[in-house]
Amino acid sequence: MRKKTDPMDKIKVQCPCGGETKNIKTNWKDIPVRGWKCVKCGEEILHPLDAEKAMEIAKAIEKKELTVKIRKVGKSLTMTIPSKLAQFAGLEEGTIANWGINSKKELVVEIVG
Ligand SMILES: [Zn+2]
Repeated sequence: MRKKTDPMDKIKVQCPCGGETKNIKTNWKDIPVRGWKCVKCGEEILHPLDAEKAMEIAKAIEKKELTVKIRKVGKSLTMTIPSKLAQFAGLEEGTIANWGINSKKELVVEIVG
């Protein structure tokens, strides 16, 4: 995995209630987003950049922009990665990825770097 230090992780966010917050990783519509959680009232604040990206992905899923058709190339099958998804995951030509399997209906791709 590529590890980048995000300066946003160092930002101290204060909850409207006045409580301190800690960094969390959470999900919005099953899309991973970073955020902060108030230690006092439990309120979750989403990272604005991640929230924006997650909204774009949710919209793309809704508009079926992430639905692709599997094609044949030689003896293998291939599928394209829609640009919005590639951007979201930071993929580029030459990125190494591993196939994995959650179930017959759910194949997963692990981005190695
Ligand atoms: Zn609070």
